[in-house]
Amino acid sequence: MTLLLLLACVPHPASATDTSAPVPTAVGSVLLVGGTVVGLGAADVRIGDGKIVEVGAGLDRVGAVVVDVTGRFLVPSFIDSHVHLAYLPAESEMADGGIAAAVDLAAPIEFLAAPHGSFRVVAAGPMVTAVAGYPTRSWGSGGYGLECVDAAGAVAAVDTLHAAGAEVIKLPITGGDQLDAASLKAAAARAHELGLPVVSHALSDSEAAAAAVAGVDVLAHTPVSTLSAATAAAWKGRAVVTTLGAFGGSSATLGNLITLRNAGATVLYGTDFGNTRDAGIDGHELELMAAAGLTPGEILASGTSAPAAFWGLDDLGAIAVGKAGSLLVLTADPLGDAGVLAEPEQVWLTGVRRR
Ligand SMILES: [Zn+2]
Repeated sequence: MTLLLLLACVPHPASATDTSAPVPTAVGSVLLVGGTVVGLGAADVRIGDGKIVEVGAGLDRVGAVVVDVTGRFLVPSFIDSHVHLAYLPAESEMADGGIAAAVDLAAPIEFLAAPHGSFRVVAAGPMVTAVAGYPTRSWGSGGYGLECVDAAGAVAAVDTLHAAGAEVIKLPITGGDQLDAASLKAAAARAHELGLPVVSHALSDSEAAAAAVAGVDVLAHTPVSTLSAATAAAWKGRAVVTTLGAFGGSSATLGNLITLRNAGATVLYGTDFGNTRDAGIDGHELELMAAAGLTPGEILASGTSAPAAFWGLDDLGAIAVGKAGSLLVLTADPLGDAGVLAEPEQVWLTGVRRR
């Protein structure tokens, strides 16, 4: 087997982006009073030691730092299911904007060992790709791809990434120099044996179909050319990351998102941050999701409960006892207009107020 590692060139960004600086509130608990927990109703929320420890009406205020959120709406912090933090290191700005976790879908392998403080990162490391395959001869020439010659090499690459700490595997399917179907299938199967979900960059109908045949779990982007009914059906029970803004949000792309949703695919909010530049919750992405036809409730779920369940981020995605004290305080009900999610009045990350 042959496995070529392309690892040089990109300086490691972690030291400049460590978000571990905020210290949990030391004086008792924080009690947010008077607000409406979206999906639950009027309720106070107590956060202690970085976690939600109590949710209910009229909670005891003795010893607590009380924050009055009367008339406000509380939702869980967001999860962005497609980012590139080695390309544009901005964990701290993302956290300030209401993102509690992100799925990094291509970075040099050293990124897998980088600390991120209380900002949670699920990382793929380099894409498993063909010799000279995407993205090693374009934007990702600095170690964003592991080049493999055959199925055995692709399986070895998956093992290498797993050992280095990868929690997801990315297999580009893009035409040009490309792993063959057998190699894609072998890599996906090995990832699944190791408990890792598999994501593909696959933008056309034939590429999305090939990804499904290979056993891929997630489309890294909503495909941009119109999907056939058969391809959409093949994505039932799998997932698609929106990234509508990253490719301009054409009518074909918006239509594909709804086609996939209607076929039974889980929709995950994602921006391709690094290629896009809004470090918070991206209002343009939310607008495009609404324009596609997603309801406000679906948009909210795509950034909270759905990705928490999909990526195994068990302490995120809900405002409930035992979850992280990571939530947003909004000035209006996001089930009326999801756009308010992009402008949180307060942002809490593991019990620390970030905004
Ligand atoms: Zn990307």
